[in-house]
Amino acid sequence: MCGVFGVFNHPEAANLTYLGLHALQHRGQESAGIVTSQGGTLHAVRKMGLVAEVFTSEVFAQLPGRVAIGHVRYTTAGGSLPKNIQPLTAEARHSSIAVAHNGNLINAEQLRDDLEEDGSIFSSQSDTEVILQLMARSRAGGFVERLIDALGRVRGAYSLVFTTDDRLIAARDPHGFRPLVLGRLRSHPDCYVVASETCAFDLIEAEKIRDIAPGEILIIDEAGLQSVQMRRETRRFCVFEHVYFARPDSVLDDLSVYDARIAMGEQLARETAVPADVVVPVPDSGVVAALGFAKASQIPFEMGLIRNHYVGRTFIEPKDSIRHFGVKLKLNPVPQVLKGRRVIVVDDSLVRGTTSRKIVKMIRAAGAAEVHLRISSPPVISPCYYGIDTPTRAELLASTHNPEEVARYVTADTVRYLSPEGLMQAVRGDSGVTYCTSCFTGEYPLRFTPPQGRRQLRLIEV
Ligand code: AMP
Repeated sequence: MCGVFGVFNHPEAANLTYLGLHALQHRGQESAGIVTSQGGTLHAVRKMGLVAEVFTSEVFAQLPGRVAIGHVRYTTAGGSLPKNIQPLTAEARHSSIAVAHNGNLINAEQLRDDLEEDGSIFSSQSDTEVILQLMARSRAGGFVERLIDALGRVRGAYSLVFTTDDRLIAARDPHGFRPLVLGRLRSHPDCYVVASETCAFDLIEAEKIRDIAPGEILIIDEAGLQSVQMRRETRRFCVFEHVYFARPDSVLDDLSVYDARIAMGEQLARETAVPADVVVPVPDSGVVAALGFAKASQIPFEMGLIRNHYVGRTFIEPKDSIRHFGVKLKLNPVPQVLKGRRVIVVDDSLVRGTTSRKIVKMIRAAGAAEVHLRISSPPVISPCYYGIDTPTRAELLASTHNPEEVARYVTADTVRYLSPEGLMQAVRGDSGVTYCTSCFTGEYPLRFTPPQGRRQLRLIEV
């Protein structure tokens, strides 16, 4: 769960990257970083915190150059520590390199053990550093050849942006698990940008050219654009990006997230309608699906819960104590909408059930006559190994509880989910577009055996 951004050939590259990262802030709120390249020298600013906290106007003076990459981070591999903040940088034999990564490598632990065995030393816990180490050790000729060499050995999900020697390089894993899109600035057609989501382009007035293809390495430099196709596997774009993670104003792999969520809500209504007076979304994640639900069921849509926007997504904080507290900080019911009404409350997903339980209780306390929870995705039953933070199987409520048991736990009158077929229909899976649905099905495109116990933390820097 991270966002990446890159700019080639703009006098204010760092500033554009700042804006791009701001639009991608929903993809990670723990840390932010920008690295610029000028005459082959890298300049880096990386800190814990939100984009607007990390980058003040004085900071931009320290980020010269016409090429920049940036990253917003939410930890899925390695601890939430300063040494893991991206972009990561390395001074290698041939040049300095910076890299920003969205995704999760499933064989990083194994590769790291092998590399350490062989004498490599690591300065972070990030799985991304393995790529830099493999490149540094490669005997291949140029940067791109070394990158191909390294990516040939890693397995898993990666959408990467690099800068080295004033070039911008983008790469996407052979399955295309996570999004990555190429665009250009309308005002400077020779200024190229790369981002996790198109919403980052809208802010800087860039137009989308195309998605980076699964298995593609794209090199952007003075000579123009050069594309190298590595091996390519069956497309496995993460369906959870459409369900929850991406912003609804983004277009991912040619499908509008907004359209997909409306279709999920409509389909959910067709599959699970119940007599009710009002459809209420869980803001913000359930809003678009709830609109689709209301449209298809012809039950009025109302905002029965109001969100305080000055707290981050509740789930995103890594500590349990903060998450439990977070729901109250974030949402407040509107009794005028809920009192005496039969309420359908729509959310995008059910993970641990802790948030839903608090929300249902809140709606009941505000006087609702009935509460029917509708989830615009199938039950989450398996952890994600490709970059979405999900708890272990034991903590996933739906992996051990049927809808009736979940309803009892969250204190709802009924709980229903969108069917897997309904989800596929909403994201055009029925017309042959393929996805990774491992969190809903337990079927993993790449086999992963979780390492026994976590790597021991040997250096903690505050
Ligand atoms: P819960 O009721 O505790 O299962 O939490 C479900 C809520 O968490 C839903 O509102 C989702 O929008 C949100 N959610 C689902 N997956 C994630 C995730 N990986 N990170 C943060 N929030 C999530």
